[in-house]
Amino acid sequence: MDSRIKIIAGPCSAESRSQVLETAKALKELGITIFRAGVWKPRTKPGGFEGAGEIALDWLADVRKETGMQTCCEVATAEHLHKSLDAGVDILWVGARTTADPFAVQALADTFMQIGAEEVSRLTLLIKNPVNPDVELWAGAVERFRNAGVKNIWLVHRGFSSYDTGIYRNLPLWHIPIEMKRRYPDIPLLCDPSHIGGKRDLILPLCQQALDLMYDGLMIECHCNPDKALSDSHQQLTPARLSEVLSSLKPRQQGSQADLEGLRNRIDVLDEGIIKLLKDRMDVSRKIGTYKQEHNMPVLQSKRYGEIVEKRTELARSMGLDSDFAKQLMELIHKESVRIQLEDRPLQED
Ligand code: PEP
Ligand code: MN
Repeated sequence: MDSRIKIIAGPCSAESRSQVLETAKALKELGITIFRAGVWKPRTKPGGFEGAGEIALDWLADVRKETGMQTCCEVATAEHLHKSLDAGVDILWVGARTTADPFAVQALADTFMQIGAEEVSRLTLLIKNPVNPDVELWAGAVERFRNAGVKNIWLVHRGFSSYDTGIYRNLPLWHIPIEMKRRYPDIPLLCDPSHIGGKRDLILPLCQQALDLMYDGLMIECHCNPDKALSDSHQQLTPARLSEVLSSLKPRQQGSQADLEGLRNRIDVLDEGIIKLLKDRMDVSRKIGTYKQEHNMPVLQSKRYGEIVEKRTELARSMGLDSDFAKQLMELIHKESVRIQLEDRPLQED
């Protein structure tokens, strides 16, 4: 594996001292240097395994002692943060449910502020994407932690909840992490294929997609006996399978051709996003058409049309886009909306 790619691996949850150490030692053999394990687990419903709690911090300390690996766990509250730091955990992650909650993020940020600059500077903080596809919430968490003095931040893309997720457990929506990379080019971006895929077969293709999109690393759930795992058993790999996955990944080539490929992959994802947005816009337009029809209103309202073209052109210009291009694009989109609304109107009888 390309050594520039950061790899974090370990079980969804720390379940017992033996499970933690057996998994960590096998991962260490693969050359992995960062070991993850959830100590406190956020569960969607009551009754699931909520993590071993504080005692698991001792097991992580043992991993550090016995393998020299760095350790990594999730923190959601000030108490988790203090306890993890006291136990010497090197890397912390903020989970997807926490990132979605600005109160919780701010409470953690305030705790970082109280801890003091020296201790905070030794830490790395991973911020997972919020469960909902809201780039501003994710960016908001970055800003809150930066304002609190956290310097070493990495982003982790773990996919987004949706009623309909198709083959995934969480929709990847690649354009959102790519937008974060655009805004924060210096912050490493990792992919967590385990929570996106939700099943073992999807881990390899998702890892490859992430590498094709120039991600900086991967966080992969791995358990010495996945079928017996107390949480997320379907998506965890054995260390042996992880080794196969890592060796069959094709890191992007070095040099300018590789950069070009990465950029083209980004363009592909962005174009897909544009098409999807256009589809959503036309759906709304169709609804407006129905409303106008029901209220006996005309399809074309030229004042509104003029305003749309003018405002969007001005917005585009203020963002550095060519205003002629933006004007033509808006005219084309509007023309298509009008066509759709007319198409839906039954021909009037005399
Ligand atoms: C995890 O990594 O095990 C986890 C609970 O993550 P997320 O916040 O992405 O669901
Ligand atoms: Mn998990």
